[in-house]
Amino acid sequence: MNKCIFCEIRDGECPAHIIWEDEKLLAFLDAHPFNPGHTLLVTKKHVDDIFDLDDELYSSLFLAAKQLSEPLKKATNAKRIGVAIEGLSVPHVHIHLVPIRKASDLNPQRAKDASDEELAEICEKIRKEISE
Ligand SMILES: [Zn+2]
Repeated sequence: MNKCIFCEIRDGECPAHIIWEDEKLLAFLDAHPFNPGHTLLVTKKHVDDIFDLDDELYSSLFLAAKQLSEPLKKATNAKRIGVAIEGLSVPHVHIHLVPIRKASDLNPQRAKDASDEELAEICEKIRKEISE
């Protein structure tokens, strides 16, 4: 079976701007952000459907989303961190954490390619907020 893109990122086989990780979870910037700072929080374990996660990992995932929201908000001057879960484009559990100013910022049609420089810059800002 071929690895999915998130498993490749987890294994360092595909480059990504990683903002945070622990033993079970990984957070990196979406290369096609709806807004700058758009982050994907994923489980390191490949599971297709978020509702198939065991309760412990499911809870850890949402606690991590909460903990990342404040540094994300500060680094991007966002009003809120929007949360979206669909799992259709990549069948590996992930939560979109999107810095937003209005509800329509969560529209996937807003996604556009970000340059590596843009991603590196926002990545550094977020990492700095996380470490403070
Ligand atoms: Zn995977």
